Amino acid sequence: MTYQVLAYYYFTAVENPHLEVSRHLEFIQGKDICCRVYISHEGINGQMSASIEDSQAYQEWLKSDPRFKDVVFKIHTHTDHAFPRAAVKFREQLVAIDEKVDMALTGEHIPPEKWKEMLQNRDEKTLLLDVRNNYEWEIGHFEGAELPKLESFRQFPQYARQLKQSCDPKQTKVMMYCTGGIRCELYSAMLKKEGFEQVYQLDGGIINYGLKEGHDQWRGKLFVFDDRLAVPIDEKIDEVISCCRHCEAPSDIYYNCANMDCNELFLACPECAEKLKGCCCEQCVQTSRLRPYEKKNRPKPFRRAHFYESKGTAE
Ligand SMILES: [Zn+2]
Ligand SMILES: [Zn+2]
Repeated sequence: MTYQVLAYYYFTAVENPHLEVSRHLEFIQGKDICCRVYISHEGINGQMSASIEDSQAYQEWLKSDPRFKDVVFKIHTHTDHAFPRAAVKFREQLVAIDEKVDMALTGEHIPPEKWKEMLQNRDEKTLLLDVRNNYEWEIGHFEGAELPKLESFRQFPQYARQLKQSCDPKQTKVMMYCTGGIRCELYSAMLKKEGFEQVYQLDGGIINYGLKEGHDQWRGKLFVFDDRLAVPIDEKIDEVISCCRHCEAPSDIYYNCANMDCNELFLACPECAEKLKGCCCEQCVQTSRLRPYEKKNRPKPFRRAHFYESKGTAE
């Protein structure tokens, strides 16, 4: 069976987000839809897998609301649902960040075609900035991109202030990208607040780039916050740039450590995963609270520990 996997977000004032949550749940009820949708006073951030029919119905339904008429859906297809259930929740913030962001400052949106051109023509004054987490970066990123060394992107405001010390904010061109675009909406505004004048963000993120321009300038795969975990940005190209933590064989398969008290997300090859019973290290194999190891081509993220929530930025 073919499912559509939707990724979308839209910033708009939502007066009563809790009401919006119930309207969503009501619409979804009885439909072949699994999702993770967050609604706040500032808008909506959603990901969904649905039968083609119900996917169409949802898109039409959401766009029929004048507040959401301009929402853009990025669409992949998949052979299965990509989410375990239908979850629609209220959130204080769509992107977790400790400072108030002036959304009027957001960087210039660059469509994929122009982004590719800018990548091809960039000079040493251009900083290509990947604003995702390390485990996302590891399996795939744009060639030559930099990754801020941060424990958590909540610390991005500090990073922006530091960057100002090492790069001249008036001279430096910043090209910023993330998975679907939403994180750039905030992080680009923060750089502008620190005085960076030329801040560009990839419109619709890597997903949109892959759909429109394919694999050119990209390396590896795209980390996604659903059961697929790693997807090619262009279905025709299966490139692996990361490796198994144990034996260093090429692999972009993520496992959650079978030690329930560890649960770390790590890359392994299927052979090592089996040898270490799905654990991240020898110590974890020796512990008592081990989930039974199940051999799978691409294991789904372990659910009970709230993979998505614990990973922070679910886009
Ligand atoms: Zn290995
Ligand atoms: Zn472990």
